[in-house]
Amino acid sequence: MIVFEDVSKQYPNGFMGLKHVNLTIDQGEFVAIIGLSGAGKSTLIRTINRMHDITGGKLTVDDVDVMTLHGQKLRAFRRKIGMIFQSFNLITRTTVIKNVLTAFVPDMPWWRATFGVFTREEKMKALEALDKVGILDKAYVRADQLSGGQQQRVALARTLAQNPQIILADEPVASLDPVTAKQVMDDFARINQEMKITVLINIHHVDLALQYARRVIGIRGGEVIYDGPADQVDQEVLDKIYQRDGEEAAEE
Ligand code: ADP
Repeated sequence: MIVFEDVSKQYPNGFMGLKHVNLTIDQGEFVAIIGLSGAGKSTLIRTINRMHDITGGKLTVDDVDVMTLHGQKLRAFRRKIGMIFQSFNLITRTTVIKNVLTAFVPDMPWWRATFGVFTREEKMKALEALDKVGILDKAYVRADQLSGGQQQRVALARTLAQNPQIILADEPVASLDPVTAKQVMDDFARINQEMKITVLINIHHVDLALQYARRVIGIRGGEVIYDGPADQVDQEVLDKIYQRDGEEAAEE
């Protein structure tokens, strides 16, 4: 369970990225975070794995106050949380399976990491992860030979190989065409349902958010403007999140 209690985030330049955020996200939820560019979506999910540090309030993951974690404990904590980016972040000049195997590097003795020596068990786990996202047949293909959607699936497989409890995805389908974007969203949905992994996705495609997520969090100016079921997001809610209301019209 992820709990934000009155969480704020002030960037070093004084800008408030998050303001008094209160949220509880249960294990196994599928949540889409929507909002304008610059609303604070990325800041919000990056505080969970401490890519960004909060500056006010309290943030706990399974009752552990994330701000108390340092060194070895922080590294172990981060391994339970998979992170998926818009840009896939693969090693493009090597094979798909080697990309997935990099998930094991943080836990390996230095000599195995240096020489890229992986156990049979690790290889099996990597292949299983590729199978879960439907690209087992691409295991020995170079990553840069794959389409964008397939590359995002490799990134997802690499995250699955970590055996995460939570997956944070920052605009994972933003650079994909609509058909491929749906396929990748299907992967997230399947993983969420079959493996009970909590999935938090920042997404600017409102239609995809409403189609796939059970719960939607709408943020604007670092504040949570909406938090509720996807099927209750109507035009009025969207207007609030995207500020297409009288306030903006009056400014024009
Ligand atoms: P979103 O993901 O919704 O597009 P972000 O969370 O990336 O928004 O950014 C929220 C706001 O915080 C933006 O106005 C952005 O300019 C600002 N911001 C992000 N990172 C920094 C930083 N390192 N220093 C100062 N401001 C930042």
